[in-house]
Amino acid sequence: MQTPYYLIDKSQLLKNMEKIAWLREASGAKSLLALKCFATWSVFDFMAQYMDGSTSSSLYEVRLGAEKFGGETHAYSVAYGDHEIDEVLTHSDKIIFNSIGQLHRFDAQSQGHTRGLRVNPGVSTSSFDLADPARRFSRLGEHDPDQIAAVADKISGLMFHNNCENDDFERFDEMLTLIEDRFGAIIGRMEWISLGGGIHFTGEGYPLERLAARLKSFAESHGIQVYLEPGEAAITGAATLEVTVLDTLHNGKDLAIVDASIEAHMLDLLIYREPAKISPDTGDHQWMICGKSCLAGDIFGEFRFDAPIKPGDRISFQDAAGYTMVKKNWFNGVKMPGIAIRELDGTLRKVREFDYADFSAALS
Ligand SMILES: *Cc1c(COP(=O)(O)O)cnc(C)c1O
Repeated sequence: MQTPYYLIDKSQLLKNMEKIAWLREASGAKSLLALKCFATWSVFDFMAQYMDGSTSSSLYEVRLGAEKFGGETHAYSVAYGDHEIDEVLTHSDKIIFNSIGQLHRFDAQSQGHTRGLRVNPGVSTSSFDLADPARRFSRLGEHDPDQIAAVADKISGLMFHNNCENDDFERFDEMLTLIEDRFGAIIGRMEWISLGGGIHFTGEGYPLERLAARLKSFAESHGIQVYLEPGEAAITGAATLEVTVLDTLHNGKDLAIVDASIEAHMLDLLIYREPAKISPDTGDHQWMICGKSCLAGDIFGEFRFDAPIKPGDRISFQDAAGYTMVKKNWFNGVKMPGIAIRELDGTLRKVREFDYADFSAALS
């Protein structure tokens, strides 16, 4: 199979799916896949056996969720345009408005639809200001309990999304308590509460039982249905980016250039200044693995290998499922990685190939 391509491994995906299904069984909390993290719909049929549906951040995502994932389809967006709202309602069974302004603006059109409001609790676990929903002056959700209470009879649910790759149950628990202290009276008037994504509960060693117990008591004490919106947690460890070495150079360090680019294919590494991961990353030879775009800092990272790297070698970058395929772009006209799936029985199936026609069609 010609590189570059993303390789989704269903047996890895299955491990996450089984934890999600277990959590639902044990806690009653439903899980909806956050499509902004992962929207590779070829595996939606598989994931839909373990999850309750999908949630979205735009008209196109909500439509994709309704058409390809099925189950419950939540609509959310930071802001909807007048021309979008009817189609959003058509494709969703719940709509969560980001602001009281949007709730009022689309009040008449959304009468009869299950409606919710995003609440910004003012606390989060993000260590990056760029990705911190509780940052100062945040536009993400309403924060004033009195103003929210004043529109509570128009809605039946609230959405809080303030976790970010949070693998610390204590911290999650602590923040949920803060939410209950501040918004408990309004939560008590609701039928459902979404706690958003960012809880890293499929990670190795996460205390799933404690999370289940906490979610269950949260639901029971307020008389609500709890939803989770896992993105990263649903697909963590489930894909690799498969590349081939094209050239090597030496400039103070051993450098290898591969047929992909972090700027175009694993953009979050660049944004959050993190290196890619390879496994095992051991051996006597250290090489800097670089992307083939002309951006000077297009570097996957420095890794260890058993032997010197040479053109034609294959490298596999780990953890390439989340916030990768949804963000890939045509910068430099670098060939966009195809998408392949490793089935549970080990067979490999290429589900998408991109070529010059796709590049050309992306602009006019
Ligand atoms: C980004 C986002 C998610 C998914 O977050 P992950 O960190 O990928 O789990 C869920 N809900 C909302 C509202 C989001 O913005």
